Amino acid sequence: MAGAIDLHSYLRDVPDFPKPGIVFKDITPLLRSPQAFSATIDALAEPFDGQRITAIVAIESRGFIFGSCVAQKLGAGFIPIRKPGKLPWTRRSEEYILEYGSGTLEIHDDALTDSDRVLIVDDVLATGGTLQAAAKLVNVFGATIVSLATVVELTFLHGRSRLGGMPLHALLRY
Ligand code: AMP
Repeated sequence: MAGAIDLHSYLRDVPDFPKPGIVFKDITPLLRSPQAFSATIDALAEPFDGQRITAIVAIESRGFIFGSCVAQKLGAGFIPIRKPGKLPWTRRSEEYILEYGSGTLEIHDDALTDSDRVLIVDDVLATGGTLQAAAKLVNVFGATIVSLATVVELTFLHGRSRLGGMPLHALLRY
């Protein structure tokens, strides 16, 4: 729940997408509702009000949708972590394993400094590989990771166990 809105009812389960055996959490109904989208952003940002967050680091592509709004809400900057070949400047890279595949994530090498206080945002925590890779990229700069935040946590995949004790603020747990 976020305020009076039951956000669970705005997520759609899509079985066997993008591969057989995966139940995909489709966030598009939530984004389509101004009330549900707004309540989601409020609930993601709320614990970090007054925490002096300087940068939101968000992961391509659905993390961008939530991360950019949270950045505006908290008065923080926005830093994209992207898939290979998308960022134009010099980059750092990290390989990672997904629930349904593997890949590489990249960040600009001038994106952060050791004085930054960072909130890392994505839509879904599944096996934790993506957020773990994002945290590694942030740690290289010596920045402080205040927390990770996601709309959904798939608890049965135990992604939290890969996060090395970093705090995670997850709105909806399955
Ligand atoms: P993981 O690295 O396994 O935690 O996977 C997290 C990333 O994959 C997030 O960026 C999600 O967008 C996406 N993802 C993984 N599993 C799902 C799922 N069941 N439903 C929606 N997105 C997912």
